[in-house]
Amino acid sequence: MKEVVLTKVLSEEVSRIYEEMASDYDAVASALNFSCDGCPDNCCDSYFLHHTYTEWAYLWQGVRELEESRQQELLKRARQYILECTRVEALGERPQVICPILDEGRCSLYAYRLMVCRTHGVPALMRRPDGQTLSFPGCFRCQDIVKKKYVHDSQAPHVERTPLLQRLVAVERELLGGKPHLYPRVKLTIAQMLVNGPPTLPTPHCERSGGTSHV
Ligand code: SF4
Ligand code: SF4
Repeated sequence: MKEVVLTKVLSEEVSRIYEEMASDYDAVASALNFSCDGCPDNCCDSYFLHHTYTEWAYLWQGVRELEESRQQELLKRARQYILECTRVEALGERPQVICPILDEGRCSLYAYRLMVCRTHGVPALMRRPDGQTLSFPGCFRCQDIVKKKYVHDSQAPHVERTPLLQRLVAVERELLGGKPHLYPRVKLTIAQMLVNGPPTLPTPHCERSGGTSHV
C-alpha cells in the first residue's frame, strides 16, 4: 500500500478552500447576527461520514504536527469513539458521541478540521452536478433566527457552497491521478480516519518491488 500524500501545491489549495469556506460562513453568520456562543448543544457530537481522501490526508497533516503523546491520546479516544458508535448502531440508533478531537470544548485540530465542520450551522445552497439544488437550513438555533427575521427562508443570506466544493473535487481528482473512479470510496468518521492512519491505496503494479516495467 502507498500513502496518499497531498503535494505542497494541493495542500495549499486545500488550505485556501478551507479558509474561504470559513470566511463565507462568517459573512453569513455576521449578517444573521448568529454565533455558537452560549449554545447548549455541541455539534461536535454529530455523527457524520466523510468522503474524500483529500480531507483525510489533510487531517493527518495536522495530526503529525502534534506531539507523539497527543497523537496517542487522540487515537485512544478515537478507538473508544468507534466502540461506542458500534454499540449504539447495534441498537438501531444514530450515534451521538463527542468527536475524539474535541478538547475541553475546542477543536484541537482546528486548522485541519473537515469540510462539514466548517459548513454546518448557517443556511447554505449547493448545486449538484445533475443540476439539482440542495438547500441546507442551518442548525436549529440559526433556523430560529431566520424565522424571526424573515417572512420566508429564501430571503435569508446563505452560503453558496458549489464553487468551493467544485474546487475540492478538483483537488481530489488530481490527488487520485485523474482517475478517482478506480479507487475505493471513502465513507469514514473522523475517528476511523484517525485509527486507520493516513489514507493509503494499493501500490500501482509497475511500482511494486520485482514488478516489470513497460517503459
Ligand atoms: S452550529 Fe448551531 S447547534 Fe451547533 S454549536 Fe453552533 S449554535 Fe449550536
Ligand atoms: S474535527 Fe474539530 S470541529 Fe470537527 S467535529 Fe471534531 S472537534 Fe468538532
